[in-house]
Amino acid sequence: MQSLDFSAYRNIVVLTGAGVSAASGIQPFRGQGGLWKDINPFVVADVSVLETNPLSIWQLFGKLRTQLETAQPNAAHLTLAKLEAQLSASQKFTLITQNIDGLHQRAGSLNVIELHGNVNYTRCSNHTCSLTSYLDKYSHQELLPICQLCNSPLRLDIVLFGEQIPVKQEWLVKQSLRDCDLFIAIGTSGTVWPAANFVRSAHYVGARTIFINLEPMKPQNPYFQEEYLGLAEELLPLLFNYEY
Ligand SMILES: [Zn+2]
Repeated sequence: MQSLDFSAYRNIVVLTGAGVSAASGIQPFRGQGGLWKDINPFVVADVSVLETNPLSIWQLFGKLRTQLETAQPNAAHLTLAKLEAQLSASQKFTLITQNIDGLHQRAGSLNVIELHGNVNYTRCSNHTCSLTSYLDKYSHQELLPICQLCNSPLRLDIVLFGEQIPVKQEWLVKQSLRDCDLFIAIGTSGTVWPAANFVRSAHYVGARTIFINLEPMKPQNPYFQEEYLGLAEELLPLLFNYEY
């Protein structure tokens, strides 16, 4: 397999999904082998549950927070961090992730846009409260945590079903894709949002577009010019010419 030459690109945008974290023992929420295979996430992780049963949201995601105490970034995370570190000062690198595990940052990635938030962070459920999001090691599965400033329930700093992607994240994504010349989607479906939308934008501005995933696209998304199939933690070190 010929490795990619990144030197010619000025603005590299990478999108990652669950396939990148699988080798770190982070199960996807949905689909086969998913954490939520027996429940309907659209019902139990809907934003309305914050009102009706906020503790259940903590119980649902608390498992993941606990898992992350021992989970480690894998070769896919490390390769992306290494690429970012090795680019020249004139090259821009943006890593957009759908994952909420924070493993890209732990691997050393710097410019990360978390589309769906970060499960390791806690914030206040009251929009007008001044409490800022903070790194929280407790999983709060037994008792609903309460904000010390306003007495509202605290919540995970993640995007629930029925919630919008935060405006700032959305803006940053648009900015990065506007003059992107290399777009790579890794470990995510190439046929639905967000990869399908992002690749269309990247293609529109003339970027080279690459799809890397365990499963092929079904149906094929014509905006992806190249497709590499396999495990992210195996393919990325090969494609990026890094060894571990
Ligand atoms: Zn508060």
